[in-house]
Amino acid sequence: MPIPPQPLNIHCPRCGWHTRWQPRSDALTAKDLPPSQCPRCGNEALDLHPLRGVGALVGGLLGRLGTFFDNRH
Ligand SMILES: [Zn+2]
Repeated sequence: MPIPPQPLNIHCPRCGWHTRWQPRSDALTAKDLPPSQCPRCGNEALDLHPLRGVGALVGGLLGRLGTFFDNRH
């Protein structure tokens, strides 16, 4: 079952560079893949965050858990 492409927020934790990657509707080629390297500092460990979907949901839950534990301390 193909996974429909979804837009991503791409963030470089090293230098702060970020962009939004919008997938093409057809014909995924190497050119259409999200960047795997920061064009500013060359960091290959980029953070990719889906703008919506499961990733955003999990992120929201983790954020709430973090707030909960912070309040406990
Ligand atoms: Zn960078």
